[in-house]
Amino acid sequence: MSFNTLGLSEPLLKAIKDQGYTIPTPIQKQALPVVIEGKDVLAAAQTGTGKTAAFTLPLLERLSQTHPKMGKKQIRVLVLTPTRELAAQVAQSIKNYGKYMKYSSTVIYGGVGINPQLATLRKGVDTVIATPGRLLDIAGQEGIDFSALETLILDEADRMLDMGFIHDIKKLMKMMPQRRQTLLFSATFSPDIKKLASGLLKKPVLIEV
Ligand code: AMP
Repeated sequence: MSFNTLGLSEPLLKAIKDQGYTIPTPIQKQALPVVIEGKDVLAAAQTGTGKTAAFTLPLLERLSQTHPKMGKKQIRVLVLTPTRELAAQVAQSIKNYGKYMKYSSTVIYGGVGINPQLATLRKGVDTVIATPGRLLDIAGQEGIDFSALETLILDEADRMLDMGFIHDIKKLMKMMPQRRQTLLFSATFSPDIKKLASGLLKKPVLIEV
């Protein structure tokens, strides 16, 4: 099975080819069509399974299929990750796969100056990849507008809980529209993850690889 039958358009297929991928991994086969359809997903996946492409490819496809309202760009996709390293990795994937597309994205994490991040957000971006703590700081400082948010992704949700981000995540969630797509990726399914998932996801498609 190739990538051609999974609902991706030409700019993404071309970028995938440039990466040297020929066959989608099991999680990509399962996730791509349902994410493109707009469904919620609860996925059990370890690093190394190709999970990053499993959510970044269909999100880029969705961004290309629908167009935002006129005017200033608003945040349409938000990816929350436990660490700045993972945030940077996700951002790099989006950059690799979206190289033939028009979109804008930015990475937000702590430990560096906040002002350049505020300035970028003020200009407007489609996609934000962030760690929860810094994103909440920013939201508290001058407000961040999530009113146009279409899709929220929690990557490595189990690690985010282990690192104590649950309260930050809950506060951020209250600022987001109820009507949105949510994807939750986690290596393990502890009772805490199940509880978080049941509060966040609507009729999720379950994916285990
Ligand atoms: P991840 O599980 O997202 O951390 O991805 C693990 C590695 O697999 C990354 O280096 C990806 O570039 C690579 N990868 C993802 N999807 C594919 C694929 N379909 N074929 C070959 N390599 C892939």
